[in-house]
Amino acid sequence: MSMSKRVFILYTGGTIGMGHSDPNDPSSPLVPRSWENLQEFMPAIQEDGFFRKEKGISIDYHSLDEIKDSSQFTTDDWICMAGEIEQRYDDYDGFIIIHGTDTMAYTASGLSFLFENLNKPVVLTGSQLPINDPRTDATNNLSNALHIAAADAFGLPVLNEVVICFNDRVLRGNRATKMSTNDFEGFESPNYNHLGDLEERIKIHTHRMLPKSEGAFRVHKQMNPNVMSIGLFPGLKPKQLRKLVEDEQIDGLVLKAFGNGNAPTNAEFVDLLKEARSSGTHILFITQCFHGGVHLSKYQSGKVFEELGVIEGGDMTDEAALAKMMYVLSKSTDSQEVRSQLLENLRGERNY
Ligand code: ASP
Repeated sequence: MSMSKRVFILYTGGTIGMGHSDPNDPSSPLVPRSWENLQEFMPAIQEDGFFRKEKGISIDYHSLDEIKDSSQFTTDDWICMAGEIEQRYDDYDGFIIIHGTDTMAYTASGLSFLFENLNKPVVLTGSQLPINDPRTDATNNLSNALHIAAADAFGLPVLNEVVICFNDRVLRGNRATKMSTNDFEGFESPNYNHLGDLEERIKIHTHRMLPKSEGAFRVHKQMNPNVMSIGLFPGLKPKQLRKLVEDEQIDGLVLKAFGNGNAPTNAEFVDLLKEARSSGTHILFITQCFHGGVHLSKYQSGKVFEELGVIEGGDMTDEAALAKMMYVLSKSTDSQEVRSQLLENLRGERNY
């Protein structure tokens, strides 16, 4: 166990650092503020605080040029964040990305694919209340994230993956989803148990960790933006989707189907997906249910789509399915290759 661990913190925005746009009006909307404002509310990370002084952890930080509410992020922001980590990968033992909660699970999923052969912890965290609120969850979340990012300094197992550390839990990033707008337990990982629990004692569940990667770390710098995600609902009119299917810009469609991957089997809907398939659009079915996943052959209302060449999304979250589609389609357009990559478990994002 070495005591001199180095952690790099990338600040991207989010509620954690927000303040009211009019400081004299507590009902004015929240807007992001700079990282400098945050540090003053967390003595443990200051120069003479617990992490640096007692644990010998050196902490450096950097803010994105434009800090944002995470609802404003695009895939270019994911690539930018990945690049910030890539530049410093060899110099640090672990990384923290401070991020808004709204799209944290999307960014975590996106980064999990962009990082190839990641062998260090990349921990996303944020909070439901700003750090200067007397009841804030920010200091707890940030402190927990530091324990995971500098794991060795605390005698903890080192994770080799992108995780979300929020309210006393560590979740695999591409398995997590935002569950609450106000509960401190903001995230859940419905189809994969927690990687860690941070109670009075910290427990990392080593049997759930991803194994160490063999190859050299590299960052993939592209996401195919021509991907669309649609949720089915009873009564959806296929003609409303026609324009989309005829749009040659759509290379991949993530369809949030019912239950085990069932969808309407009326001729109009089936023909629409058939046309999309024959014009080269890859279609991935995931489920609208939180638990379980897609088995197209279970019901006739799924089997019809299996025969069309629809790809089973297994038990992937919406966020992981979308990010994976963007990643896979940015690497290859070969139909067989895309299919096999989408079906494969690339980063622990699917069990089947
Ligand atoms: N709107 C905020 C964001 O995602 C919400 C949060 O951080 O909790 O940036």
